[in-house]
Order: sequence, then C-alpha cells, then structure tokens
Amino acid sequence: MSTQELSRTKSAIDKSTASLALEFGHAWDYAPAPEAKDHVRIQPRYDLFVGGRWTAPKSGKYFLTTSPSTEESLAEVAEASAEDVDLAVKAARTAYEKYWAKMRPAERAKYIFRIARAIQEKARELAIVESMDGGKPIKESRDVDIPLAAAHFFYHAGWADKLDYAFHGRKVRPLGVAGQIIPWNFPLLMAAWKIAPALACGNTVVLKPAETTPLTALLLAHIIEEAELPPGVVNIVTGAGPTGAALVAHPDVNKIAFTGSTEVGKKIQKAIAGSRKRLTLELGGKAANVIFGDAPLDQAVEGIVNGIYFNQGHVCCAGSRLLVEESVHDVVVKKLKDRLQNLRLGDPLDKNTDVGAINSKMQLEKIKELVAAGEHEGATRYSAPCALPDKGYWFPPTFFTGAAQASRIAREEIFGPVLTVMTFRTPDEAVEKANNTMYGLSAGIWTDKGAKIFWMAGKLKAGVIWGNTYNKFDPTSPFGGYKESGFGREGGRHGLSAYVEVV
Ligand code: ADP
Repeated sequence: MSTQELSRTKSAIDKSTASLALEFGHAWDYAPAPEAKDHVRIQPRYDLFVGGRWTAPKSGKYFLTTSPSTEESLAEVAEASAEDVDLAVKAARTAYEKYWAKMRPAERAKYIFRIARAIQEKARELAIVESMDGGKPIKESRDVDIPLAAAHFFYHAGWADKLDYAFHGRKVRPLGVAGQIIPWNFPLLMAAWKIAPALACGNTVVLKPAETTPLTALLLAHIIEEAELPPGVVNIVTGAGPTGAALVAHPDVNKIAFTGSTEVGKKIQKAIAGSRKRLTLELGGKAANVIFGDAPLDQAVEGIVNGIYFNQGHVCCAGSRLLVEESVHDVVVKKLKDRLQNLRLGDPLDKNTDVGAINSKMQLEKIKELVAAGEHEGATRYSAPCALPDKGYWFPPTFFTGAAQASRIAREEIFGPVLTVMTFRTPDEAVEKANNTMYGLSAGIWTDKGAKIFWMAGKLKAGVIWGNTYNKFDPTSPFGGYKESGFGREGGRHGLSAYVEVV
C-alpha cells in the first residue's frame, strides 16, 4: 500500500471512529442485553383475591396497568369498591378467627417459609414483571427488590414461633385484621415488608397495592394460593385512592400500615383519629448525604449515584440532598458530572441499564415542575446529555448547584433522579443543614473517620443512617422515620411490635 493510500485509510478509520463515538455518546458502550420475557405470562385481566378466590369486582370496573417505559398496556386490573373491600375484610376476619390466630405458631411459620421459597423459585419472572410494570432497571429488581422480598418472608417465618422471646419475656397477642396500603416504588418488596410481619405475628391481611404497579402483588397472590394458606389469610384488593380510603375507614380493621406520601399519610391519620385502630406510617423524605473532605471521594460519588439515580430517585429514602464540605465541592461536582455522563438510561429490561423509566406520566410532570422551580429560583442545573427514548416517561439524571437552603428544590421531596448539591464548612453546620427539613427518614455520612460517623449519627434526626454506604437494606434492621417521615418501624424486632399487643 502506498503512503498516500495508507494515510487515506487511516483518515477513513478516524472518521468512522469519531462518528461511532458521536453516535454512542460515551466511551464505554454495551451491546443491548435485554432479559428475555417470553416465558413470563401476564394474564390479560386480574380479578380481586378475596377469601382465597379470584373474584370479579362488584362494580364490574377494571383499570389498565401500563408499562412506563413503552406506554403499552400490560393488563386490566379490578377496581375494588367499598363493597369489595368490605368482603375482603370479612374474609380476613373469618380467616383470623377460624384458622390463623388459632394455629400453632410453628405451623404458621411453615406457610411463611413456603412463600419465601416460592418467591426465590419465581425470582426471574417476578423481577421481569416488576421492571415492566414499574420501569425500574432489571439490575435493581433482580438484585435488590426480589431477593429482599424473599429475605423478609424468611426472616419473619423465623420469628413466628419465637414471639414470646421478642419482648423481654412478655406474652404477645395478634391485633386481628391488618389493612395495608403500599406505594409504587418497591411494589413486591413493600408487600413483603407489610405481609410477612403481619402473618408471623398471627394477623390476617387485606393489602392494597398501588394503582400503577399492581402486577407483582397479584403474582404474589398466586404464590400465596399455591402455598395453600387458609382462605382469607391474605387478601389483595386492587384500586386507587378511594379503595385505600375504604380500607382505612372500615370499622372492622384493627390496624392500618401505610407507606406513601406525607399528604395521604396525614389524611389517613385524620380519618382514623378517635378509632381504636393502630397505625404505622412510612412517608416521604428529603435525605441528606454528607461528604466530608476526608472521605474516599470516588466511593462517595458512587454511593451518591446509587442513592439517587439507580432507582430514578423513586425511593422515599433517596439521598436527594448532597452536603459537601466546601474544600472538596468542586472536585465532587466534577466527579459527579463525569459519572452522570456514563450512566446508561433506557430499556428497564436491559441488564446494562442504570436508570430506568419514571413510574408514571403524573410523576414525570411533578418532577418537571419542581426542576423548573429550581431553575426559576436561580440554582444551576446540570443534566446528563443522554438521549431519551421516544416512548415512555423519562427524565435525565440531573443535579443542581448553588441552590438556597430555603428553595423548593432543596426542601421538597422530588421522587425523581434529581439531586441538590449544597456546601458546609464545619461538622456542626453539616448537622444543622442536614436536619433542616420537615422530613427525617434517612441520611448518609461519608468520611475516613469512624468517630465522625458516630458523632454525627447521634445528632442527625433520621430513622436510618448509613456510614460510607447508602441504600442498604436488611430484614433484621428496623426502618422508619422521624418528623413528617412518619412513625413506627418495619423490619427487625422493632417491626414486630407494630403487629402485636404486648400483654
Ligand atoms: P405516592 O406519592 O408514593 O404515589 P400516595 O400516597 O399517593 O403515594 O399513594 C400511596 C398509596 O396510597 C397508593 O396505594 C394509593 O392508591 C393510596 N392512596 C391514595 N390516596 C389514598 C387515601 N386517601 N386513602 C388511602 N390510601 C390512599
């Protein structure tokens, strides 16, 4: 080859490499690796699971559940009216009196173990359906949601026959029928958090999943059916706010457990005031992640990304405020920007996807509104330059710098992949700023000094505090909030007290 030909070939190669880089946008690209979904069977229509049977809603009404990443309809789901809720509560009461409260605790444990094992067996199918219905990346549903859901059943199965040892030798008795209402961010995991302790403590359950993500709770109903739990021990009623409100208002429910927005939590508290119903509320959050100058910054940035972007910010304990020691602010922001440029946003079923779809159109509108407010208030916005798919609901990973503490973007829960970065100079200032919120669900501390973690953890008003890590869950560890993030704990020995009367 002549020198001229050689140089022409080289320039052609350079051009095609440049156009490839332009096309893919970042240095490391991956070929598509979608999880196969042909073996997953979603029924065209789901009825209510009441008294161990699949029953059509009295109203005859159904609503569609859709995939937020494709806008495709996945299934029709029954809309339970107050009459349906009444039937479910009656079924739960009968099951409580006839079977569940009378059963030897060791026998109850066997049923709960069976559910745990079946979740493990069907883990792949559950993860796929979770990602299809809710939009979260398969990496998250496969590695976090589903294994943790199984772990919660395993853990609580272990407690069922040891309750007499859980409260310093005092005897306990179940409460009766538990009405449980859950949100869309961890659909199966939240069902497990609610159902497993209730059953272990001898209660029966009426559970209402969120209207945008009912499918995995309905698959769980099938698992419960296959595990041959006595009819009515677990009832699943689908529907929106009015179905939840009917459950809250039902006179024969002994306990309400709710996870969701602070706004609805307050309504529930008002609705049951004066009744003898027990209540636990797990509500919103505006968690602070605090990075000290001595922290391992790369790990810290990875932890921040895990805390807010890997789940589209759809976590009540999302670390949506970042407090950085002033001396390392610029370097942290630079590292964060670099990392955001390499996050892969797209098909939730692709095993390489980091950031999935926003759960619903309504949620996307809320995120956009608050981001616009942040810009309007004068904060500087940075959004990762990723291409958004044409169909579905998407928002690019974003952060704000220069936001005032009093601004909406620094105060309000956003429930989206949007972080607000602020600075501090001293540990006391970090504590003051972290606690300057109406919420108090969680917080993160990043530093090289263990003593600083302990010092700070004692001062933060947050139910869960992570040190040099974030968003780590375990069924043995209680989870719950301070202030407007709610009250009561879920998980661990503390979580059991929400479902028993200590006598
Ligand atoms: P999010 O903002 O996480 O969607 P919501 O508080 O709106 O949280 O919803 C959480 C759950 O509460 C969902 O299952 C929803 O249907 C239910 N819900 C909404 N309104 C009410 C209500 N007034 N009473 C009881 N449950 C409700």
